[in-house]
Amino acid sequence: MHESEQQVIDQPTAGSRAAQARTEPETLRRHTPAGSEAVAAAGQGAAPGAGDLTDELLRSDQWTDEMLHAAGIPVTDVPLVSVGGGIGSFVTVDYLRIAGVSTDRIAILSNLDFPWQTYEYLTRVSQIPKPERIRSDSASRPDNIWGFPSYALAEAIGDRTLAPLWQVLIEPIFADYYTPKAGRVFAGLERETKRIDYPKMLVKGQVRMIRKRRGGGYFIILTPMVGSTPTKRLAYRAEFIHLAVGYPGLRFLPELQEFRTAHQDFHHVVSAYEEHEHVYEAARTKHLVVMLRGGGIVASRVLARLMDDRSKHGLSTDIVHLFRTYIATSHGPNAWNRRKGAHGFAYQGFNYPKSVWGGQLKARMRKLEGEDRGKAYKLMGGTNTPYRRRWQSQMNTGREAGWYRTMAGTVEEMRLDQGVIVSCVKTQAGMVEVAADFVIDCTGLEADIAEHRVLADLLEHSGVGRNPLGRLDVERTFELRGASSGPGVVYASGATTLGGYFPGVDTFLGLQVAAQEIADDLARRGFCRRIGTFRSIRQWLRWARNKQP
Ligand SMILES: Cc1cc2nc3c(=O)[nH]c(=O)nc-3n(C[C@H](O)[C@H](O)[C@H](O)COP(=O)(O)OP(=O)(O)OC[C@H]3O[C@@H](n4cnc5c(N)ncnc54)[C@H](O)[C@@H]3O)c2cc1C
Repeated sequence: MHESEQQVIDQPTAGSRAAQARTEPETLRRHTPAGSEAVAAAGQGAAPGAGDLTDELLRSDQWTDEMLHAAGIPVTDVPLVSVGGGIGSFVTVDYLRIAGVSTDRIAILSNLDFPWQTYEYLTRVSQIPKPERIRSDSASRPDNIWGFPSYALAEAIGDRTLAPLWQVLIEPIFADYYTPKAGRVFAGLERETKRIDYPKMLVKGQVRMIRKRRGGGYFIILTPMVGSTPTKRLAYRAEFIHLAVGYPGLRFLPELQEFRTAHQDFHHVVSAYEEHEHVYEAARTKHLVVMLRGGGIVASRVLARLMDDRSKHGLSTDIVHLFRTYIATSHGPNAWNRRKGAHGFAYQGFNYPKSVWGGQLKARMRKLEGEDRGKAYKLMGGTNTPYRRRWQSQMNTGREAGWYRTMAGTVEEMRLDQGVIVSCVKTQAGMVEVAADFVIDCTGLEADIAEHRVLADLLEHSGVGRNPLGRLDVERTFELRGASSGPGVVYASGATTLGGYFPGVDTFLGLQVAAQEIADDLARRGFCRRIGTFRSIRQWLRWARNKQP
């Protein structure tokens, strides 16, 4: 594909903020490996002076100021650029603003209008609308680097009730973990976004690539919003880059992908990360059999929605739940180190054991390298979901009445038979055919990092490598190994760095831990001040009064 044709793919869709929150964010729509596009594009650059990427730029690992000038791409100097503009960018910039960095020293390049836009979209379609509770705990506050007051305390004060505080006191033995409502999280983020003047730092567009600058630092190429600038591309020259691009994309299991492509059916076989409200609507009009696939939190949420609707509207929906790895009992390497499990699910309050965020496991993981780290991830991670008493009781009712069935196996083939989707499942007892009106895939956002165009380009041109889980290889400070350029540093946080020294990186608290490491490292390099005790206290008081940092 010619570079100029790619403009069409690059451009984020315009629309109101509310409408955008309802639409699928641009980045999640791409399923084709971006690397191959980048390779195809090499050698087919625009003519010099056209304000677009030239052959020379596409080919070169390092760029000079003159090369950009010759291409006619305008250059803006900003010391630090954060690429992504989601929650990872937001918490990092929040730390830097609290450390005293002014808005004119930071640019956030993003296709999002506001930092929680992708998160809001993904939680909403995967059945966590605003009134529902998310997974993380009371102190994981992306809008508050101190975690105080916690969400439970804020809810207790706001709603004039002691219930959240009581729950936090007796969790998890006598009650489920307290978790905040999605709506409360968004409201807090909105307030902090305004407080730190986030919109002043935001530049909307699609980041196309990052290349090292000869002499130090980097160039970041942005494809701006259509018609917002005279040239097709803009360049940012920065000494520091922070990369937080979230999930590279949706990944469908091969047989689901084949079925969807062969039948052009995106209606009966859906991902839980896509709009699929029509399934719940259809269940309200007639008897349905719905097949669920996956055993993580998203499968639990979708199952909860089907079960809630069933009892609320008196429906007759049958649910067949397929697990690839069926967990029948508690499991673990020894008697002391076991995780609860039953009826297919592995139960764990949060993605990882809590000490990953600040205890023994955090310290231990920091020391592990290569294969040992990979094994440790396997042991404590994997697909799991929280044990919630309400869900348990609903599932028990369903099992007893026969409308909720679980099975273990892998789908070998899917076919359409008189409007019904038949999945041929390989089980221990042999092949079993399961007929369903709808299949909801809850297996994940696990696409390879090379499917993200900017990351594919970085892997090809900058010398960055992969960690034991195949994601971006970062230092303990979240510096991207192999990407340094003179005094310039690229940092990365979020899902693209899972597999590093800090496992909780794709969570609110994890993004904050990463942001703190990054801010400290930047302070060591003289970019900003360190947030010491007095600054921290002063800044918390400003936060509490909603005053700018
Ligand atoms: C359904 C779901 C529920 C979750 N629940 C919790 C929870 O309860 N608690 C918790 O702690 N964590 C939770 N997480 C995990 C995590 O905290 C969030 O996913 C968080 O939003 C990750 O932030 P991020 O900045 O890494 O990614 P995002 O918020 O997705 O932001 C990155 C954004 O960068 C933009 N982008 C990417 N490439 C480019 C480009 N080339 N140019 C311009 N912009 C680009 C995209 O719009 C992308 O969305 C959940 C995740 C999911 C999917």
